[in-house]
Amino acid sequence: METNRRKFLKSIAGLSSLAASAVPSFVSAAASNASVQDIRLSKNKNYIRLVFDLDGIADHSIFTLHNPERVVLDIKKAKMPYGMVDQIQANSLFRSIRSGVRNGKDLRVVFDLSKEVSPRSFLLAPSGQSGHRLVIDLHNKKGKLAAVKHSSKKSNKRDVIIAIDAGHGGRDPGATGRSGTREKIITLQIAKRLEKNINAQRGMKAVLVRKNDRYMRLRERIKKARDYHADMMISLHADSFPDPRARGSSIYALSVDGASSETARMLAEKENATDLLFGDFDLAVEDKMVKEVLFDLSLTGTIESSLDIGGEIIGQLKSVNRVHKKKVQQAGFAVLKAPNIPSVLLETAFISNPREEKKLRSAAHQKKVAKAITRGVNKYFSRKAPPGTWLATSECEYAVCDGESIAMVAEKNNVIESDLRARNGLYADNLLAGQVIKIPVS
Ligand SMILES: [Zn+2]
Repeated sequence: METNRRKFLKSIAGLSSLAASAVPSFVSAAASNASVQDIRLSKNKNYIRLVFDLDGIADHSIFTLHNPERVVLDIKKAKMPYGMVDQIQANSLFRSIRSGVRNGKDLRVVFDLSKEVSPRSFLLAPSGQSGHRLVIDLHNKKGKLAAVKHSSKKSNKRDVIIAIDAGHGGRDPGATGRSGTREKIITLQIAKRLEKNINAQRGMKAVLVRKNDRYMRLRERIKKARDYHADMMISLHADSFPDPRARGSSIYALSVDGASSETARMLAEKENATDLLFGDFDLAVEDKMVKEVLFDLSLTGTIESSLDIGGEIIGQLKSVNRVHKKKVQQAGFAVLKAPNIPSVLLETAFISNPREEKKLRSAAHQKKVAKAITRGVNKYFSRKAPPGTWLATSECEYAVCDGESIAMVAEKNNVIESDLRARNGLYADNLLAGQVIKIPVS
């Protein structure tokens, strides 16, 4: 193994000098703009190799950050098509890969990793069919496997629990798109991505109401959420409408006194029809019991909380898809009638709109939707964490000094950066001087 490694390192050294001789000067070369044409990944025994195909030479730097483990790649004056990083297959090493623009012209790619690695990078000059390439090798670090992650998870406080309900399932396919996409499949795919995202947040745990393609009554779904002691339920759907031009996302909470719009009423009827069609009559129909439940819901502020959560989610979804109603809509959705569990129903997009159907099928888009929902959920719980949860544990406040980053504040206060983000619902990297943030005290 070791000889292989040495051999490999040698080959890198060879390649580097080869590249350097083929390219006379990096400094002058860096003046031109490059764009990433493709990213390829290959797995080797002790390292993972990423090859960035470039259409020109680029100056780059690479460094690591810890807790959580990250590798940051900066390429000067470079561009990459939006969403390209999403094409790198899920891999046990990568939690996620993000990219963004820095200083208005540079490209930054951040790899969130499940364990510590030592990165190596080198440039290759064009040869044969290949053009300029930037090669990144992420080598395993021996003896330092994923132990870091769990040490921070120790706390006697419970997690906030989020039940994710993938709409429809089994013999109830939900709506069908023009290319044959079925709502029940899409909702489950997004649900699983959302579960993963939420579980990566400290202090939160996601549970799936249905884990596979099976039929579940609305009543059963609510029961499941209650059995899990969920603090919140998110029901995922994909809308349909006879006019294929209808598009956009919308979010719903339960209403006590009728629907907030005619569309909301029609939609509630459609989603509730699941149970009418398949025989669970009681819950979908407004009987005496339901009226009592509704009364109870309005008294306990569950609906108010649902509207609050919905507002946070819609705020984040805006960056991902057109939101066709800016406010949280209300209607009598049966699945939202879980006593004491604030619940929202999200129509992620119109599956009946061919463009949105295509989006709904794309892994990249599904990931974006899941991330946006997670951000919304995080923002809500950073304000309103239930008592007894880690997110609600004691904290002190800290006023940010000029020029401080989240990482710097975390280090100064001896807390983990991801914990700081979770507690404050922070996603952007810049902090404002004077901004007050919460520091968890365990
Ligand atoms: Zn639906």
